[in-house]
Amino acid sequence: MIIDLRSDTVTKPTKGMLEAMMSANVGDDVYKEDPTVNALEERIANMFGKKTALFFPTGSMANQAAIKLHTNPGEQVICDKYAHVYNYEGGGASFNSGVSCKLIDGHRGMFTANQVVESINPPDFYHSPLTSLVAVENTTNKGGGACWNFEEIKKIRTICDEHDLGYHLDGARLWNAMVAENETAKQYGEVFDTISVCLSKGLGCPIGSVLVGDEDIMKGAIRIRKIFGGGMRQVGYLAAAGLYALDNHIERLADDHKKAKEIGEVLITLPQVKIVEPIETNIVIFELHPDVSEIVFVQTLADNNIHIIGMGGGKLRMVTHLDYTDAMHEMLLSTLSSF
Ligand SMILES: *Cc1c(COP(=O)(O)O)cnc(C)c1O
Repeated sequence: MIIDLRSDTVTKPTKGMLEAMMSANVGDDVYKEDPTVNALEERIANMFGKKTALFFPTGSMANQAAIKLHTNPGEQVICDKYAHVYNYEGGGASFNSGVSCKLIDGHRGMFTANQVVESINPPDFYHSPLTSLVAVENTTNKGGGACWNFEEIKKIRTICDEHDLGYHLDGARLWNAMVAENETAKQYGEVFDTISVCLSKGLGCPIGSVLVGDEDIMKGAIRIRKIFGGGMRQVGYLAAAGLYALDNHIERLADDHKKAKEIGEVLITLPQVKIVEPIETNIVIFELHPDVSEIVFVQTLADNNIHIIGMGGGKLRMVTHLDYTDAMHEMLLSTLSSF
């Protein structure tokens, strides 16, 4: 039994999902003639109460398209220093959109409305880049699956309105946040201009993200997706996995969250472990005592068929997911306890 907790992206389609994929009705999506993609886009747009949604191969491409839609070259995006759009999209913001990022020194990947205000360059001060977009991430990835306080999200909306800034949500794991915090997609749709959501993380699809937004901002999205090389043909086979996941894999995220908490409870009892960050969803980030070798710790787990990853800076990460079964969970907890 191999226990892979490196990421929630390692899942493979379930039997039910594969069956849904195999029986999908498809067409050429570049001509907008794939009924299954159209159905997925319409369903997600409706969930968020937005007019338009567009299917993307990856979350990175959906975020990058959003940045492109909201900005012009030379401008600046406000985001947290931990943001995926800044750290893990290959420098795409500068490559694709010619923008820089103003990094906020937030807490677990989250920041306050006041920090946003302090980060906005005065628009008439032409020496500094023009601020045009605020990007928020929920749950935060590098922040350990932390969930934003929705009140702060709303306060930032007010700041964006006052300063005429776009407001984008990187919601790769928004499903986890909504389940953990008992929130609705509509709530998020009301506040943000654009939202990207991943189907390939907690929801267990092999591929796929959707960018949803208001009609005016989204009208250029299909062209940008084409320019990025993301126009796809009979991709309804993959959209069918997304539709299946929306029906079957959202509520069960609570089980991933419960398992993550239980892992944290055991980890903190280990003499090697110094800190376990608060666990709100399916991500567990912990640090070892300085005299414990991270390499040896990770290798010892690997020797026991348990795979986790280092996040740099002495942080280690485990992520629970659909393919992490009850049996694996029992095995992991007992292996850890015997460390
Ligand atoms: C995974 C992830 C993405 C998108 O990743 P892809 O691998 O490009 O689909 C975007 N933002 C966050 C916070 C993520 O965790």
